[in-house]
Amino acid sequence: MKKRAIHWFRSDLRLIDNTALHALENKLADKADCISVFVMSDPDEGKWAMGAASRWWLHHSLSSLQADLQEREIPLVILHGVASKEIARFAKSVKADYLFYNHRHEPWASKQEEVVEQELEKIGVECFSYHDGLLIEPANLLNKTGGPYKVFTPFWNACLNHFDRHTVPLPKSKFGKIIKGTKFDTIEYSSKVFKKDLNDLHLIPRIKWYEDMEEFWQPGEAGAHKRLSKFVNKSITKYDTGRDRPGDSDVSYISPHLHFGEISPRQIWHRAIEHDSKSTQIYLREIGWRDFAHYLLHYFPKTTDEPLQTSFASFPWRTDNGSLEKWQQAMTGFPIVDAGMRQLWHLGWMHNRVRMIVASFLAKDLLLPWQTGADWFWDTLVDADLANNTLGWQWTAGCGADAAPFFRIFNPVLQGEKFDPEGTYIKEWVPELAKLNKKWIHKPHEAPPLELQMAGVILGETYPKPIVDHSAARQRALQALKSTK
Ligand SMILES: Cc1cc2nc3c(=O)[nH]c(=O)nc-3n(C[C@H](O)[C@H](O)[C@H](O)COP(=O)(O)OP(=O)(O)OC[C@H]3O[C@@H](n4cnc5c(N)ncnc54)[C@H](O)[C@@H]3O)c2cc1C
Repeated sequence: MKKRAIHWFRSDLRLIDNTALHALENKLADKADCISVFVMSDPDEGKWAMGAASRWWLHHSLSSLQADLQEREIPLVILHGVASKEIARFAKSVKADYLFYNHRHEPWASKQEEVVEQELEKIGVECFSYHDGLLIEPANLLNKTGGPYKVFTPFWNACLNHFDRHTVPLPKSKFGKIIKGTKFDTIEYSSKVFKKDLNDLHLIPRIKWYEDMEEFWQPGEAGAHKRLSKFVNKSITKYDTGRDRPGDSDVSYISPHLHFGEISPRQIWHRAIEHDSKSTQIYLREIGWRDFAHYLLHYFPKTTDEPLQTSFASFPWRTDNGSLEKWQQAMTGFPIVDAGMRQLWHLGWMHNRVRMIVASFLAKDLLLPWQTGADWFWDTLVDADLANNTLGWQWTAGCGADAAPFFRIFNPVLQGEKFDPEGTYIKEWVPELAKLNKKWIHKPHEAPPLELQMAGVILGETYPKPIVDHSAARQRALQALKSTK
């Protein structure tokens, strides 16, 4: 009798260059039937269960994956609950012999893998797991003294020397043979015990706040490749400036696709190097920062909640729900901050330069704990990623690895003037300021009354007055820093 193998989809929602799927094909050829599962495992994820914007993305990504798999006659069974229990129950019911999956690196996910393997061993299912979603497996890279890297450039140089650049193809004829004639769709799994309908996961919110996201994004493997092609064909050579210009569209917008594994970093690497330029190298370094973030999370799992630099453990953060709400609602009175927070609300995404500005504003001007900002991003980003979000917040707050020093405090007006000199970004996201002359668009609170009047701006009515005085806030932040020494 033919053996039966399960591919467990996790953050690898793609068919091409999927290491575990490819291994399944290679190892078993036509000796086994294959079925795939996805487990919505929020009980395992605990505090880091997906936020609302990510859930929206996941729904569409799974729907796209299901359609792609259907073309190859591979069923995707959707389960919901504690992964070890659900997979074991499912494996038993279909009398599976093998489980194939790719690793994730979040602390909860490593624990999840351990327990899944234990449970499956008990029922005689053999597990095969693979390194897949990063350029380099964190456990395989240490510095010369045997410890983990904490500075990006040496990490990146080591990574460039070690990573395996080859990609694996789409499961094709061989894989087709494995699943051809499978009886899986007629056996027990189709009983009501196993959720088959994606809608049963209720990932789409009842209130339709996601219309702009629907228009802007195409979740799924095809959408990921379309997005990457557009970037490589039109923008990669302008990335060196685009990454600092939120008003242009010269970044790749690939982060949610990468997070859900709809495309691999190896595939991105190969497309990017078609254009050998300084700009491409800068882009690849950013892909390297993603690896660095996951690497740090692997070695310092507590940094999701605690500062990496222990001197920040006693930092005198404030509690001020009123200011936090103004930041969340994009009503701070600083146009570049408000524009970023509105882009986040509408697209579930924000340009990296502006992420740094809004994060600095929260942690330094408002002196609110970086974790509160990270939580808000977690709920609102379609690319919410525990490693990247933790690194981004700790970096900006000055308490992470290779971080911007705390005393380097962004002036939100100067940042706006420098990186959005024509006010293009502000005009798009804060349209009530669109008629202001570019001299004032980043600082309406300093504009002469006549300029405001001509642009139809009434401060405190059509657009808020600043919620803090930046110079005073800067002094307060520096004072707070002194108390940690
Ligand atoms: C406070 C803060 C929070 C952040 N939270 C997240 C998050 O939850 N999820 C997330 O994917 N990124 C996060 N980032 C990193 C970065 O802002 C986004 O990856 C990037 O803006 C996504 O847009 P893009 O795909 O067009 O990026 P591009 O500029 O085109 O870069 C390509 C890819 O490189 C990686 N990358 C780029 N910059 C960084 C960086 N600084 N750190 C790690 N990886 C990077 C991403 O995977 C990105 O998709 C955060 C940054 C900050 C400052």
